Amino acid sequence: MNVLIDEATLQAGLDRLAAEIEKRYRGKPLTLVGVLLGSIVFLADLMRRLTIPYGVEMISSRQVATESNIQGPLFIQADLLAPEVAGRHVLIIDDIYDTGETLWELIPQFDDFKVASVHAAVLLKKKNRQRVPLGPTLVGFEIPDVYVVGYGMDYRGYYRNLPYIASLSPEEMKNLAQNGG
Ligand code: 5GP
Ligand code: MG
Repeated sequence: MNVLIDEATLQAGLDRLAAEIEKRYRGKPLTLVGVLLGSIVFLADLMRRLTIPYGVEMISSRQVATESNIQGPLFIQADLLAPEVAGRHVLIIDDIYDTGETLWELIPQFDDFKVASVHAAVLLKKKNRQRVPLGPTLVGFEIPDVYVVGYGMDYRGYYRNLPYIASLSPEEMKNLAQNGG
């Protein structure tokens, strides 16, 4: 395991992001929409830094299988979310922007909810991975194309607890898959 972003650097990045969010959304009705599951530690730390008022909602990006499509659509409980975000500025909070496909699917769905605006803030953005012409507005850190864990992000349930971001090598991932921790 290789430490990519240590705890102090991570926390300084959170301070920067929170300051930027306050600057952009002060005086506007803001709702943070966290994407389960990897973003919850990031979201909780952001929430504790923001002094402007805001609402919080959670959505799941886990793919739900349908009969015709094993991948299925991203799951949003629209009937619950729509009344909470109508007329408000939505800031989607996600852990990693990798290919961008998650946000590419999520962002247009908010148009139906008559939001005032929709943007995304991600803790990490992988370089040279983007496959869609749409990116996050706010980025904590750019990282190389490696598999990362820690700070809420896991590999097979391991390492969500780490207070820093680390990368796992393919060998380490293979070991965990075969033998567990
Ligand atoms: P995208 O749709 O942008 O390709 O993928 C984004 C999602 O894939 C992230 O929200 C995250 O859940 C997952 N993901 C992508 N790369 C990594 C990684 O290196 N580590 C972990 N734990 N999850 C990742
Ligand atoms: Mg995710």
